[in-house]
Amino acid sequence: MSDPNCLFCKIIKKEIPAKIEFEDENLLAFYDITPQAPTHLLVIPKKHIASLDKAESSDKALIGELLLRVSEIAKSLGLDKEGFRVVNNAGALGGQTVFHLHFHLLGGRQMKWPPG
Ligand code: AMP
Ligand code: ZN
Repeated sequence: MSDPNCLFCKIIKKEIPAKIEFEDENLLAFYDITPQAPTHLLVIPKKHIASLDKAESSDKALIGELLLRVSEIAKSLGLDKEGFRVVNNAGALGGQTVFHLHFHLLGGRQMKWPPG
């Protein structure tokens, strides 16, 4: 459920501080320490899942709940008015640096396509 060496598990356990925007039994949303947009949050499950490709069919409801929560947070911050971006980096080529599943919620500037 929790990995003692995982940075985000430590944030969940409040061993490392973070600016928390939302928390419930299953999920945590907090602001990225190196924001890449005027608004940049990370939304994570409290369950330690290393990356999206490590999620299992038993995580179906949790991941659905997580993505709906990303949408709710975007709306609560007013990001839906002009648009926003949700990103998941998976594995080395995907640019993943923290191996605890997270979705980036970015807003407040024009996004480019294709992503870098
Ligand atoms: P990724 O590269 O997709 O694995 O994203 C990891 C993200 O975690 C990066 O955007 C980092 O800036 C962010 N990050 C790393 N350490 C912290 C921290 N202590 N608090 C908040 N965000 C962090
Ligand atoms: Zn973890």
